[in-house]
Amino acid sequence: MTCWPNQQQEIDLTVEESDEFLLYDLRVEVIAGDKPMVCNHAIGDYFELSGENLTLPSGQSFPIYPLAALLPLLPAKQRETHPYDWMTTDMEVACPDPLCGARFRITRTGQTVFRHADVTRVPLGDSTAG
Ligand SMILES: [Zn+2]
Repeated sequence: MTCWPNQQQEIDLTVEESDEFLLYDLRVEVIAGDKPMVCNHAIGDYFELSGENLTLPSGQSFPIYPLAALLPLLPAKQRETHPYDWMTTDMEVACPDPLCGARFRITRTGQTVFRHADVTRVPLGDSTAG
């Protein structure tokens, strides 16, 4: 087979120049606050985030206004942060409705390996991009 050496070279290149990176998987769960809840969320409701994919348990909904408040925080929570950074230590977020007592606990549940080439078409080392 004449193609064997090329396949081997490709494998070695992949090992030496891995484009893998880790992101934390997140779980965002509704917990009780100091007031009754107003929005359509109940204690224990949750969603999970792995990479760019958000999943809800079958049949459970999640209101869009607290989701909109949570979304900007999630990419930072997915990444390694400094131990003294508040993004590392603070796990609870209040519902944006000032009359709603819900809190949302963001938990790092694990890590998933992603490959740069699987998530973008921008080549590595291209300093002119972004
Ligand atoms: Zn609420």
